[in-house]
Amino acid sequence: MNRLTPEEERVIVHKGTERPFSGEFLYHREKGVYVCRRCGAELFRSEDKFSSGCGWPAFDDAVSGAVRELPDPDGLRVEIVCAACGAHLGHVFRGEGLTEKDTRHCVNSVSLDFRPAPPERTERAIFAGGCFWGVEYYLEQVPGVVSVTSGYIGGTVENPGYEDVCRRDTGHAEAVEVVYDPARVDYEALARRFFEIHDPTQLGRQGPDVGDQYRSAVFYLDSDQKAVAEKLTGKLRENGYDVVTEIVPAGTFYPAESYHQDYYRKHGTAPYCHRPVARFGGEASGPAQ
Ligand SMILES: [Zn+2]
Repeated sequence: MNRLTPEEERVIVHKGTERPFSGEFLYHREKGVYVCRRCGAELFRSEDKFSSGCGWPAFDDAVSGAVRELPDPDGLRVEIVCAACGAHLGHVFRGEGLTEKDTRHCVNSVSLDFRPAPPERTERAIFAGGCFWGVEYYLEQVPGVVSVTSGYIGGTVENPGYEDVCRRDTGHAEAVEVVYDPARVDYEALARRFFEIHDPTQLGRQGPDVGDQYRSAVFYLDSDQKAVAEKLTGKLRENGYDVVTEIVPAGTFYPAESYHQDYYRKHGTAPYCHRPVARFGGEASGPAQ
């Protein structure tokens, strides 16, 4: 069971109602499944979601057996709860003629969580911007990113290890390989975020980490990625940044040792080595932590 915030508890346990037109899933349009916020049971599919105009997410069907109907204490409506854990979800209405199934599960966003469907296809991007722990930490938070792997690229020996790279005679950079869903995020958004979370004006170092393995580089996989990287570095120069980022074709990417993967998440700490800065004008494209 997930721990609930006070607002979640008010709705899920004490059968409250979130303010209309306030829920995070009201206009949500991604493919996937909505699950119980408390116990994680699958409740509603995105293909059954429709716009009812009533101010709460609406579904004209539920996952078979997942939602239980109970007479509401008000004597008029029919309450719906998670069949697995009894969490209050909302109410079900029939006979409104809104969809062919003539059913409206009117559900509080607060009672739900969302699991996106696995992407139909994925693409890759490779960036180097100092200590890979920090770059991985921030890029993992970008919606549409499927996975981020820390590793080494751009050197002269095969299968380098951390010790080799630290010795600085192999030429490798600490880098991350990002696998992403192009239906949810594009390369330009990822590259923009990359230029916000590290300082592209530092040569042969990044923050407290000094050495060529911490250099700033975009390792492009095709000419489109190269063009995007050149466009963004051009914008940064217009904004007064003396960019030193290398834009070079990607060779083989070697994943780092497993203890380097998800470093900050495993240790429950935040990066010492990177801090997002809005370098393109306006606001940064992601959270500051
Ligand atoms: Zn549940």
